[in-house]
Amino acid sequence: MAEEAQLTVQTKREIIKGIETTMRSADGLITKPVIETHFGKEVWTHPLMEVLRTSECLCMKCDKLKPDQPDNCKIANELFEVCVKEDVALAVTRCPEWMKLRS
Ligand code: SF4
Repeated sequence: MAEEAQLTVQTKREIIKGIETTMRSADGLITKPVIETHFGKEVWTHPLMEVLRTSECLCMKCDKLKPDQPDNCKIANELFEVCVKEDVALAVTRCPEWMKLRS
């Protein structure tokens, strides 16, 4: 099982490497960072990562994410605090506590 997961990660890395080879800009990023206003503040934003963050962050598909509820995920609460304090956005790509959405 672990070996299968490793192969999947390797395959993903090869796909990403192919994308990087053909698309990487002079900035060293796949898409050029742009200035956007989020929550009233101008911040540098990576357009591709923004799209991936909203669609692919594990938290967005996790049964433990319950914003504004007392039983919301402790990790998600801590990450949210960092985001608010530092004006950053994060995407969780690894989590030992992830639970598939039931609904
Ligand atoms: S358990 Fe992990 S994936 Fe789920 S909400 Fe918490 S931090 Fe996000």
